Amino acid sequence: MENIQPLKKLCRLGYDVLVVGAGPAGLMAAEHAALAGLTVAVADAMPSPARKFLMAGKSGLNLTKDEDMAAFIKNYDAIEPLRPIITEFGPKDVIDFAHRLGQEVFTGSTGRVFPKAMKASPVLRAWLARLETLGVTLLRRHRWVGPLSAGETHSFETPSGGVKIQANALILAMGGASWARLGSNGAWSKDFTQAGIAQSEFVAANVGMQVAWSEHMSPHFGKPLKNTQLSVAGAQSRGEFVISRSGIEGGAVYALGRMLRKNLLAKLDFAPQISACELYRMISKRKPKDSLSNFLRKSVKLDATKRALFFELNQPIPFDIIGLVSAIKSARLPLMGPCPMDQAISTAGGVMWDELTPELMLKSQPGIFCAGEMVDWEAPTGGYLITACLSTGRWAGRAAAYYIDNQNRRL
Ligand SMILES: Cc1cc2nc3c(=O)[nH]c(=O)nc-3n(C[C@H](O)[C@H](O)[C@H](O)COP(=O)(O)OP(=O)(O)OC[C@H]3O[C@@H](n4cnc5c(N)ncnc54)[C@H](O)[C@@H]3O)c2cc1C
Repeated sequence: MENIQPLKKLCRLGYDVLVVGAGPAGLMAAEHAALAGLTVAVADAMPSPARKFLMAGKSGLNLTKDEDMAAFIKNYDAIEPLRPIITEFGPKDVIDFAHRLGQEVFTGSTGRVFPKAMKASPVLRAWLARLETLGVTLLRRHRWVGPLSAGETHSFETPSGGVKIQANALILAMGGASWARLGSNGAWSKDFTQAGIAQSEFVAANVGMQVAWSEHMSPHFGKPLKNTQLSVAGAQSRGEFVISRSGIEGGAVYALGRMLRKNLLAKLDFAPQISACELYRMISKRKPKDSLSNFLRKSVKLDATKRALFFELNQPIPFDIIGLVSAIKSARLPLMGPCPMDQAISTAGGVMWDELTPELMLKSQPGIFCAGEMVDWEAPTGGYLITACLSTGRWAGRAAAYYIDNQNRRL
């Protein structure tokens, strides 16, 4: 959907609703404002829309998780403000949304839902075509530059200079602050601060944790550890993670993200399928000529990467049975903190809920709404991120339409 207007003519354009940010939240907001019969434009700083959404599809676009609402909503830290929003547009609605775009989806063994094509590009192509049919204008290379003010004229930088765009309602969906090269760099935060709008500090979420590996681990960088259990501060996460050059990353790590940020000592159970009693019995029967490495391979079924990690984490190796059980079931894994924010799949932090009405409108700036990752909520990977971006985008788009309708009635 090219912007067909020559840039010079954009000096003063008017729309009912102007959305800033063409990620999943902004596109969804635009769709719902347009469905309400309003004229809508989406402006994005980048030359093409939804770059992070496309990147998300590189490793398989996990759209949502097929689970009931009670289980689903528990994955968000901001459960109460998000509850009405996600209850109206949750996992089933995300699946219907994909179907309406002509995209078949499938549910993996863990309940994660993906488009059959796995990638985001077919979803995005179909979505942009639909928005074009609805008359939504896409303004590429339009960087919103603030200031944040509830007036009807909003300022943008474009390759051909500054432009002002008029709109009756503004929806800001500029994303969080990771993977800045894809567009969401968190620069909007300073305009919010200047306008006196409180934000929680951005922190890397869904990101690897750094570990100071010895040279011994280098042959295992990039290798996955399946069927392990990580624990921290009483919380557990069973599943898979990967040994990286800088530490550990993957679903089992991200699921404990909030707790790991506060507590840098995790425990690792190499064999969650074997109870401690059973392991005690197995170790007591171990033949004296059987090396520990052989025993771990044959009896405990630890592959080469798990064995390497076992020896990395358990120096000096205990000789007594109880010590060995504990080394297998509860190895200490000291962490050095999260990997850099720009590597994070998402960021926690953003516009505080207290600054927003239940409609996602800024209390101090009537007519300006916020949606997506720029609002202060956090969730693990598993489709929870995109679902919340879509549902908050839809909510803000509909709320902006009600707002304009109410304004018109008053005139
Ligand atoms: C590698 C990777 C894999 C991921 N995989 C998944 C996954 O499988 N499932 C899942 O649920 N989530 C996944 N995510 C997270 C998901 O992509 C994000 O949570 C989601 O894209 C956020 O949507 P958003 O619309 O809020 O913001 P964004 O998608 O970040 O979009 C914000 C837009 O605003 C624009 N913008 C910013 N500032 C300005 C400005 N001043 N003026 C104009 N435009 C501006 C940006 O250019 C950008 O296009 C993944 C993320 C990454 C990086």
